[in-house]
Amino acid sequence: MAGRAPRGDGQRTALKQLSDPRLVLSVNVSTTANIRAVVFDLDDTLAPSKSTMDPAMSAALAKLLDRVPVSIISGGRFEQFESQALNGFQASDDALSRLHLMPTCGTRYYLWQNSSWTLQYAEDLTDDEKARAISTLEEGARELGLWHPGAWGDLIEDRGSQITFSALGQQAPVAEKHAWDPDGEKKRALWAYVAPRLPDLEVRGGGSTSIDITRKGIDKAYGISKLVEKLGLNLDELLFIGDRLDPTGNDYPVYAMGVASVAIHDWHGTLAAVEALNDWLDAPDAAFPLTTMEPLQRNP
Ligand SMILES: [Mg+2]
Repeated sequence: MAGRAPRGDGQRTALKQLSDPRLVLSVNVSTTANIRAVVFDLDDTLAPSKSTMDPAMSAALAKLLDRVPVSIISGGRFEQFESQALNGFQASDDALSRLHLMPTCGTRYYLWQNSSWTLQYAEDLTDDEKARAISTLEEGARELGLWHPGAWGDLIEDRGSQITFSALGQQAPVAEKHAWDPDGEKKRALWAYVAPRLPDLEVRGGGSTSIDITRKGIDKAYGISKLVEKLGLNLDELLFIGDRLDPTGNDYPVYAMGVASVAIHDWHGTLAAVEALNDWLDAPDAAFPLTTMEPLQRNP
């Protein structure tokens, strides 16, 4: 099914204007159907937080790769892609050649070439940008009483193109992470401390306990714009699936740039979505099986 022709009937693409004050462009927002590639968040979308992808999810993803190009975009490093999704992933070289990996919000890009994952480009922070990000995060966390180094790994991690603060440490158990800040109040407070002190850098909520700092303009929308360039597709030919599509989440910029987006709560929702997509890609006349978020509207 690779390279299937664009869907003709049922394609409904509306010109929408965005209400996000950061964006003033008009973009084409697909209301569903002309999907040529599927893009996933990794953590809490394809795999449970910091854990390995379930075998059922791996199988469904491999099946999807036989049908369309797939991309995974995450704030996490490539090593996280390996441990959560790639180690033990079974697919043919042909299928793997359609898998586009974008760690750290697409500031790095890997493709399967000559039987290994090969870096296509990397855009790292300067030493000065890293030093300021690290010191401001620690200062803010200490001031807000959120600095508690423990047994679960470093609280601040240098990911090359991204500095990440994880309140409980990178290796904290998922249940602890989810219980740490259920209403997002602590993360918002740290964001409000750090963001104004680093006006030249982008400060964004990542996973359930984390804050990501990158160069300005580097978010998942940046990675998506790189991706469509590499794939030779338009934004309205992508479908995005993620767990943090709310306005403070790290998946939000993808939705805000106009990509048809499906919000899921955890990987079980993603598995159901991928299985439905696989069935739909095999049955061209069936109705699109997923509910995408309402396109953003410009305020009158
Ligand atoms: Mg996520």
